[in-house]
Order: sequence, then structure tokens, then C-alpha cells
Amino acid sequence: MKRPSRLRTRAVHAGREDFNKLGVHAPPIDLSSTYPVQDLERARKSFADLASGGMPADGEPIYARLHNPTVARYEDAIADLEGAEAAVGFASGMAAISACLMVAAQDGPEVVAVRPLYGGTDHMLDEGMFGIEVKWTEPDQIAAAISKRTSLVVLETPANPNLDLVDIADVVRQAGKVPVMVDNTFATPILQNPIELGARIVVHSGTKFLGGHGDVVAGIVAADEQWCARLRRVRIATGGILHPLAAYLLHRGLPTLPLRVLSQQESAVDIVERLAASGLVENLRHPSMPGSDPKGLIGTQMAGPGSLLAFDVPGGYDAAARAMMSLECMTKAVSLGSVDTLVQHPAALTHSSVDPEALAKHGITQSTLRLSIGLEDVQDLWEDLERALVTAREPVSL
Ligand SMILES: *Cc1c(COP(=O)(O)O)cnc(C)c1O
Repeated sequence: MKRPSRLRTRAVHAGREDFNKLGVHAPPIDLSSTYPVQDLERARKSFADLASGGMPADGEPIYARLHNPTVARYEDAIADLEGAEAAVGFASGMAAISACLMVAAQDGPEVVAVRPLYGGTDHMLDEGMFGIEVKWTEPDQIAAAISKRTSLVVLETPANPNLDLVDIADVVRQAGKVPVMVDNTFATPILQNPIELGARIVVHSGTKFLGGHGDVVAGIVAADEQWCARLRRVRIATGGILHPLAAYLLHRGLPTLPLRVLSQQESAVDIVERLAASGLVENLRHPSMPGSDPKGLIGTQMAGPGSLLAFDVPGGYDAAARAMMSLECMTKAVSLGSVDTLVQHPAALTHSSVDPEALAKHGITQSTLRLSIGLEDVQDLWEDLERALVTAREPVSL
């Protein structure tokens, strides 16, 4: 089949191009842990291909930590949607990000990074894991922060959890020859394609929008073939490959990804408008809010503002906790991008390991809640949220 150019069509058909030939309508799940050798000479060549980070050109998968056809099929689909040469699937988003850092550490110890980042990524960099020395910087200071020892620039946009936008093309320009890695988990390939803007590496926690149904933990990196080959070698060595059942679930969720992302975004914009008018919250953050996109990145870099939002509940930690715990329709849980609306407290949960000063600098306080809007009827979500916020205002009755 000729590669269709439109996103929704690609989301439905990517990684399924050989189905007619195979006579199947759903991706075959291959759960083999090892593969009987068909021909020793062919197996020898496949093994050598895999060990050097390539694909088994002679067709023998050899062993499940080295290669799995169900995983490879999903990798092709994500590479297609991200406009990348290839993609590499990992057991979790953190396995994917740590593999990227391990590859970068081979080229130089220094990583230039823009805060805020996902709490786990921030922690890994700040702790200096894999011998990495992090230089935290602002998006307009990248060029000045880069030295001969810099092997990677790391950023996230929209950022987690304060929804700051970073101009990817501008960072890429400042980075020069240094590869730029963008965590695209919040935007998904539906709203943003960092590779088109010059980023070399795109990472996703597949656990979030890509999986979308709260039943899979996964990570995936899309990049050029040279970087992917290095990632596959790290994956073989460390064993963090995506499980084929998880790859199947991710692939199953891909055709509805555009619909989910757009519908959740529409509800998020609606909720943001109602919150802004309600006077019930402070410091409301969403890329659709006036003043939150000074560089005009929505509509250019990013197709829309997405479905994550954050705000402060007046009254500090106790009020925020009361509001969160009195929600009934929304799921009180970390994670995001699921079919159900998820609400969490970043300072107490996902970002509790981040330096408190860095949190405060980015406007994340003890009263900040983060919402990931799901597919429920928006009126039900609003009634739940409004009631919880009003409840949070009331003094605790003993
Ligand atoms: C969840 C998340 C991660 C980590 O992914 P896991 O699948 O939980 O390992 C990384 N980056 C972002 C932006 C995330 O939301």
C-alpha cells in the first residue's frame, strides 16, 4: 500500500501494511522467548545483525530480548507517525529515557536540560546517573550552556506539570550539532512532530496517551537509524525490551489515538474556560490560556493545546488535598492520557523527588493539582470538579 499522507489514515494503517498478504485483520502476537534455528548460517548472520544494533536481515529473530516481530511492527507504526526512520520499543518510558542517556554518555558526560521535566527524568539527571553531569538551563540559554563535553539536550514541551511551552526549532538551532531529545509524551504525534522541527530523538512514555486505556506500561523512542541502532544495542545489553503483549495493546490503541487526543483536548479547553470564569482556582495553566503562548507555538509547532491542565486550589495543601480527594467522577491517580480523567498532586506525588526550589521557580506549589482530561461527558466532569472545589473552600468540620 502506498504510504498515505494524512495522519488519521496513517494511525489506522501504520504497521499493518502486510496484513492482506498475511491474510489477517489484527496484528499477530508472537510470544516466543526463543526461536528454533532454521538454518545455522542464516541464524549466524541474523545474530551478527542484531548484536550490532540492526534488524535480522536474514529473518531469524533468534531470542526475544534481541528482537520480537510484534514489537517491531509497532515500532514501524510509531516511526511512521513521528516521521522518523525507525523506532525502538522499551518496557517503560523510563527504560526508553535511560537508554537514550546511556547512549549519550558514550559521547560526552554533559547533558544540557530544560526544567521542568517529568519527575523521574529530572531525578535521573540530577542524581548524575550513568556518570552524567546535568547543566540546567533556560530555553534561550542553550547555546551558552553547551560545551565540548555536551552530548545531548533534553527538553519536554508542553512541560510537566506546569504546561510551559518550549520552542523546539529554536532550541535545535542553538544546539547546533548536539542532538536534541524531546519528550513528546504530553503532545503525542497527533499534536506535535519534533523530528520535523529538527529534533533528533523523540521519546514517549507509551503508558500515557499511546496506550490510552490504563492497561499498559511502555516506552518508545523514534529517531534516525544510526541512533536507533545504538539504542537497540543498549536494549539488548540491559534487557528493557517492550513486551509483545504490551506492543499489541499499544498497536490496538493507535487507530483511535487521533480521536482520543482531539476529543480530550476539546473537553480540556471547555473545562479551562469554565474554571477561568469560576474564580474557584488560581494560577490556571493550559496552553490555551491568554498569555501562556507568547511565541505563538499553538497552531505552528503544536496543532492544539492538549488535554493536560494545572491550577492551584486556594488554601494551600489542605485545600488541594480536600478538593482532590472529594472528586468522584475523576480518577485520583498519577499518570495521564487515559480514557478516564486523572487528577494528581505533583508536589506530593510525581514531582516529590524534584528540588523544592526548582518546583517553586516553575510555579508548582503545595496547592497545585494537575488534571488529564478523559473521554467522559464534559458536563459530568465539570459538575464533579465544581463541587469538589466548593467543598475544598469550606472549613473542615470536626
Ligand atoms: C510518565 C512519563 C514518563 C515515564 O514513563 P513510564 O512509562 O512511567 O516509565 C516520562 N515522561 C513523561 C512526560 C511522562 O509523563
